[in-house]
Amino acid sequence: MENDIEFKSAEEIKEYQEHLLHQALVYLNGHSRYYQRMFCKYDINIDKISNIEDLVKIPFTEKKDLQLFNEDFLCCPKDKVIDYITTSGTLGDPVTFGCTEKDLQRLAYNEMKSFECAGLHPGNILQLMTTLDKRFMAGLAYFLGIRKLGAGIIRVGNGIPELQWDTIKRIKPDTIMCVPSFILRLIRYAEEHDIDYKNSSVKRIIGIGEGLREQDLSLNLLGKRIKEKWDVHLFATYSSTEMGATFSECEYGKGGHVHPELIIVEIIGDDDLPVADGEIGEIVVTTLGVEGMPLLRFRTGDMAAKLVDRCDCGRNSYRLTPLVGRKNNMIKLKGTTLYPPAINDVLDNTPYVENYIILVRYSDAGTDDVIVKIGLKADDNHEESDIIKDLKDRFRSRLRVTPKIEVLPVEDIHKMNFPAKSRKPIKFVDQRKK
Ligand SMILES: [Zn+2]
Repeated sequence: MENDIEFKSAEEIKEYQEHLLHQALVYLNGHSRYYQRMFCKYDINIDKISNIEDLVKIPFTEKKDLQLFNEDFLCCPKDKVIDYITTSGTLGDPVTFGCTEKDLQRLAYNEMKSFECAGLHPGNILQLMTTLDKRFMAGLAYFLGIRKLGAGIIRVGNGIPELQWDTIKRIKPDTIMCVPSFILRLIRYAEEHDIDYKNSSVKRIIGIGEGLREQDLSLNLLGKRIKEKWDVHLFATYSSTEMGATFSECEYGKGGHVHPELIIVEIIGDDDLPVADGEIGEIVVTTLGVEGMPLLRFRTGDMAAKLVDRCDCGRNSYRLTPLVGRKNNMIKLKGTTLYPPAINDVLDNTPYVENYIILVRYSDAGTDDVIVKIGLKADDNHEESDIIKDLKDRFRSRLRVTPKIEVLPVEDIHKMNFPAKSRKPIKFVDQRKK
């Protein structure tokens, strides 16, 4: 542990990152057609970028750049690419990422550190409830990380509560890794089938893709609902394909720790300049040590704040607060600013809601209109009008505003949640863009 950069002082961490930043810039200058063009066009001398503060001299890389110039981002010959991954772009077509052997080792290292942060050691057994295929980076990275850590993994894949419980009974994992809202389904299945889940082998749940905490780091409704039912230790993570890095909570749950050897984070305000520590802005990342498709000042579109005080776990690596939402998905409803995760959190925690989808579109007046379509649990006998009234109250108390609510058959919502090509359930559709 004494060699782990995360326990060094903030100054040492910064110095170390700047050393790696220089290497990354030299590499991009030598290998990336996209960044060679950028450096030339904006007359950027990489030798003059020596501090993290100097990064502001370099333009941002946007998601659409990855899409428009996809191949120009690849820094190595194609025969060095081992694993091809795609991620959804903003212009329709997916973006292809190529990972080299070195990149896969880097991913393994990243997840090993994240699992260590969540307290895993050799001997722990993790049940992975996410897919390993479908051109997905995350599942593969988790597998590689557990292997590098020397712990055990069971690759069950997503869904199928029956198979999940059968696996828990047979192999006795201590850790589950999944999308947190799936835990509620697992609990319900256990309750319906008299499975004594509270006394199962599972003691720890690592969540991906959905937040578990509020900005003040207390558990959000989803986190509370899981914890009330099942007294397990909850860990939230934040990661993406473009970052090739994970921000992972330690046992104190005070935000996701950066692994400083893998990524530099800037938090950028509306004026495109860095905001003060602790203030919310857009997460902009520069990857370190990536061979295939390294990125410089990539705008993630995700909104969060940086926390820089020393964590109770002893790490000085800065942390990110839970995501407030995606910048593009910001909704202005009757004068109130909100993001879809806050709406999800209400719906995920309403007992009679089986499934749902949120739609945003422009109203005739040009303002945002939010329509929430819900499917009801089969055993619910309430009148539809009572349900809509109750749900509106829930929204009002949590968000101060209420979207429009429509009740539809569960199957219809299910079809909208799982369109043929999608790897993740779709719960939010933004029809404001052309
Ligand atoms: Zn910590």
